[in-house]
Amino acid sequence: RINKLSKYYQMGEVKVKALQDITFEIYKGEFVVILGPSGSGKSTLLNILGGMDKPTAGQVFLEDEEITAFDEKRLTMYRRNKIGFVFQFYNLMANLTARENVELATEICKNPLNIDHILEDIGLCDRKYHFPSQLSGGEQQRVAIARAVAKNPLLLLCDEPTGALDFKTGISILSLLSKINKEYKKTTIVITHNASIANMADRVIRMRSGKIIENKINLNLVSPERIEW
Ligand code: ATP
Ligand code: MG
Repeated sequence: RINKLSKYYQMGEVKVKALQDITFEIYKGEFVVILGPSGSGKSTLLNILGGMDKPTAGQVFLEDEEITAFDEKRLTMYRRNKIGFVFQFYNLMANLTARENVELATEICKNPLNIDHILEDIGLCDRKYHFPSQLSGGEQQRVAIARAVAKNPLLLLCDEPTGALDFKTGISILSLLSKINKEYKKTTIVITHNASIANMADRVIRMRSGKIIENKINLNLVSPERIEW
């Protein structure tokens, strides 16, 4: 639950309003897509939800805990145990194999899932011992997704996970995220410029100039077995 969230940057004389009084709610289990032009505040919003940035005003609640009231220590635990983050450029450790990249992430969190099971599920069985430089972009992103899911987070946050991939590979990554959302029951928020994914999403949020201009739930998709209202 996001309540009256704002983020301002003072850049000399100029005040940049990255987020302006945003309020919305999503339900456990939803697959949410955020669309919007460059500079509309999508990454700023996701970074605040992931505890990587702090708002100027407003609150974020996850299961009735107010994230925005956490001190640095609790915020670190929150990022470790509750959040799985997927970035545009994968951010894998170059000197570790695919499996080691996933393993490293799970070592620091409380309730990790079985690494080999996930790698298999994500279609990386025969790529476990490859280093990132030996993998294609799509495969590297799969490793990054495996790493995020293996932590067994409450929230899976993906900032333009297909931004560095060709269209077809991008669609396969978005389909994988949709599959993971359902199989692992992970509430998932994906920022993308790929509007064709909108029909896979339970909810589509459109942003412009730091505001939400549309928040539409897809009633054809949402089901009580998947989403806790
Ligand atoms: P894109 O699609 O290009 O990734 P975005 O929607 O993710 O764009 P944000 O990165 O959230 O946009 O940025 C929103 C606005 O806030 C932009 O105008 C940007 O210049 C500004 N901004 C973001 N981070 C900072 C910062 N650290 N300092 C100053 N201004 C910032
Ligand atoms: Mg961005």
